[in-house]
Amino acid sequence: MRTHRQLVLYQSILQVLHEPGCPFCKFLKEYQAGRLQRRLESETRRLCNFHAWGLAAVQDAPAAAQAFIGILNEDGSNANGTQECDVCNEVKAQEDLRIRELATCLHRPDVADWLRTEAVLCIPHATKLRRQMPPVLASRIDAIVQNCRRQLKIELDQLRNEPGIDRSGWGALGRAAEFLVSQRGLRV
Ligand SMILES: [Zn+2]
Ligand SMILES: [Zn+2]
Repeated sequence: MRTHRQLVLYQSILQVLHEPGCPFCKFLKEYQAGRLQRRLESETRRLCNFHAWGLAAVQDAPAAAQAFIGILNEDGSNANGTQECDVCNEVKAQEDLRIRELATCLHRPDVADWLRTEAVLCIPHATKLRRQMPPVLASRIDAIVQNCRRQLKIELDQLRNEPGIDRSGWGALGRAAEFLVSQRGLRV
């Protein structure tokens, strides 16, 4: 059996605000891994390329086998790849929920403090959060994104000019990928 890191099942976006990186990416990464590891046959009808391989790779093989049986039982399942993936839909719904959750907590002192001092957001989640915020706070989101962009450029410059053989500093590549396209779909 493959080894798999222990999942953390978060219940609220507030639990991940102080983790490194974008809190929405962090939350959704754990959520997605949990949904892949625990699926009922009846919950899976269609999977995209990424989530089919993600399911094949999870530790809980009986649950993965059950989900694939669910797809095989479907007549003419996603052979042409045009239908929507069940896991993508679940992650998207959770993403919308968590964006709304944070947008309704902006008045809380701890959230206001996070926004003012240590917030990190990827571009896709900053864009989605910005749409839910009052104009006075939208400019704060822009400043956070600019700050993340500047910081990443420094790290990438350093990596390009002095790529350490011990792979130190290589984490900047993952942070850059997350910043540009968010965590979802990148890895399980
Ligand atoms: Zn993000
Ligand atoms: Zn998918």
